[in-house]
Amino acid sequence: MPRLIDSHVHLQDSRLFNRSDFQSRLKSASAAGVAGWICNGTAPTDWREVRALSTKFVEIHPSFGLHPWKIPQLSEASVESALVELDTLLEHTPSAGVGEIGLDKWIKAPEIQRQKAAFRAQLALAERYQRAVTIHCLQAWGHLLEILSETPPTVPFLIHSFAGPEEMLADLVELGAYFSLSPYFFHKRKRAQLELFNKTPLSRRLLETDAPDMAPPVGWGSPHLIDSASGAALHGPETLPFLFDHAHKAWNLSPEYTEQLLLENFRTWWSHDTAAAPR
Ligand SMILES: [Zn+2]
Repeated sequence: MPRLIDSHVHLQDSRLFNRSDFQSRLKSASAAGVAGWICNGTAPTDWREVRALSTKFVEIHPSFGLHPWKIPQLSEASVESALVELDTLLEHTPSAGVGEIGLDKWIKAPEIQRQKAAFRAQLALAERYQRAVTIHCLQAWGHLLEILSETPPTVPFLIHSFAGPEEMLADLVELGAYFSLSPYFFHKRKRAQLELFNKTPLSRRLLETDAPDMAPPVGWGSPHLIDSASGAALHGPETLPFLFDHAHKAWNLSPEYTEQLLLENFRTWWSHDTAAAPR
């Protein structure tokens, strides 16, 4: 059984956390080889749950950030106070990463200039405390490269659910980016994105569920959940071993090699452990 780490998940999301089977789902994921989760907060309203989960379960590692989708919903004063709270939280939680942060022009009325300001401020916090970063980017790649290039991060950063664009890949690799693959890209209509992921360097690849969103194809046979409010297909932390099986086949690598590769990549990204030399 491979030892796996889920590099991006939202276990605090009420669609998972409020389920009566939440703990048994975590247990069955652990029993299937999941040895850790990087649990990403998205706003002050869920940082407390992320912190509580990480205190209760040693396998849950916290990451705190103000998600780009939250910025347009918050007043300037609320963003300011969230950043002050984040600073304190990072100072008092030495095990925490910074994320999920980033840029998104796919949403309606994105207020990209405000997103950029919050993103820059959070990258500066990651630098100050030397923490691993998790970045969300949708349709804002030019802005992302602009910001990462003006002050190249000295801390390792992960572009989660990476699906291109291909022309940005070389620059992102040069800047030190890691990339994580989500089960969502195994849907047939996402074949091009899955193939693009094969162009990322082996030494920068990670796996993520992004649960409860980004569910895999039903054909995988992994447990699906249905969102009672929207009817959308959701999934839980048990998806990771299924993703591992499909990923190493898509990458044409043996399960043994892939397991070691992913563990090394996780160490170099999350713990900045350069002793684990990237291949
Ligand atoms: Zn996420």
